Amino acid sequence: MNSISIIGAGIGGLALGNVLKQNNLDFTIYESAPEIKPVGAGIMMAINAMQTFDQLGLKEKIEKAGNKIHGISITDEKLKPITKTNILELENKYNSCNVAIHRAELQKILAENIGFEHIKLDHSLTQIKKKENYILNFENGIEVEGKIVFGADGIHSKIRNQIFETGNIRNAKQMCWRGLLDFDLPEEFHHQALEIWGKAKRFGFVKLSEKKIYWYALINHGKHKRYNSLAENFSDFNPLVLKILESTPKENIILNDIMDLSPIPKWYSENLCLIGDAAHATTPNMGQGACQAIEDSYIIGKLLETHQDFNTVFAEFQKIRRKKVDYVVNTSWKIGQISQWERGNSLRNFFMRLTPESINQKMVEKVIKLEM
Ligand SMILES: Cc1cc2nc3c(=O)[nH]c(=O)nc-3n(C[C@H](O)[C@H](O)[C@H](O)COP(=O)(O)OP(=O)(O)OC[C@H]3O[C@@H](n4cnc5c(N)ncnc54)[C@H](O)[C@@H]3O)c2cc1C
Repeated sequence: MNSISIIGAGIGGLALGNVLKQNNLDFTIYESAPEIKPVGAGIMMAINAMQTFDQLGLKEKIEKAGNKIHGISITDEKLKPITKTNILELENKYNSCNVAIHRAELQKILAENIGFEHIKLDHSLTQIKKKENYILNFENGIEVEGKIVFGADGIHSKIRNQIFETGNIRNAKQMCWRGLLDFDLPEEFHHQALEIWGKAKRFGFVKLSEKKIYWYALINHGKHKRYNSLAENFSDFNPLVLKILESTPKENIILNDIMDLSPIPKWYSENLCLIGDAAHATTPNMGQGACQAIEDSYIIGKLLETHQDFNTVFAEFQKIRRKKVDYVVNTSWKIGQISQWERGNSLRNFFMRLTPESINQKMVEKVIKLEM
């Protein structure tokens, strides 16, 4: 019998594995995919995630594999600033930077540090049943009995569906393309993330490493013009955007819908707990989904240092995490809607330009400050 089973080797499950290992606990991670092969895209690890990686002894490795980002700017189509958030001060205060990194690099670092002997690939959970312990059935015919179970199986979590019988997934009605390419960005963007807001659409990009950049493009449902290329939808944007889009090989582009999970009342049941997207998937507008999954793991690790009973840890975990997670999910949803208004954008930009930078910094600090 397994003492601790984690379902899902995404960023959340892998972060939790690292934390349990640091607490000298035995665990097995079950992942449905035959290999750890995340979507081909970049990801931003904000200061809250990087503080956790610091405690795990992984901060330098992740910084080296990615690119430090010291500021985030929102601009209009012509790159005229709307807001700019300088995070150097917060970086000094929390002794960590934002890091943009290829998802594959991040997951490789997390998985290698755990050790592949703890990760069972090609194990897709089909059914979970509570008897005295949990009975886990996998698609490959294997059955495992587990005492403690973590559901880190993402927004469509089978554990959430079967144990909690809840989970309303909300579609933001925005299509999202993501791309990776080798590109020489102007130097002013080497350590800045940029998000450009247009009418019913937006475009963001960030440098990941010496040559690689990662971009994302969002368009409201019904507003995507079926031209030959995605770039033509952004013909009113600065030429740099068009150049990035036109230079991206088609096979390096992925397309998803943007969605989140309506807050569910409870993340835990007897000897079982959901973390990451399975518990509280958010839209990506604050770049915090994976960071919140990592923060979940951090808090569980901290609680395990002083409590042996997992059920006490789970109840405390939700008590500590709930307020911030709800804030992220709700604020991110609102930002997503405001950023892609179809009219009134000049007025929106005018008022946003009046907002003092200190207010944006306060909002960032609220999110990146760890709760324990
Ligand atoms: C466009 C976009 C951009 C984003 N940008 C950022 C960003 O910059 N920063 C940030 O912090 N977050 C970002 N996010 C959010 C982030 O990707 C997610 O929040 C994060 O990946 C959630 O991690 P997770 O481990 O909880 O879930 P997932 O990444 O979904 O991982 C779940 C894992 O469980 C496995 N699994 C699922 N079902 C089963 C099963 N039945 N049996 C076994 N295994 C199973 C899956 O294969 C997967 O490996 C972005 C999201 C999107 C869509």
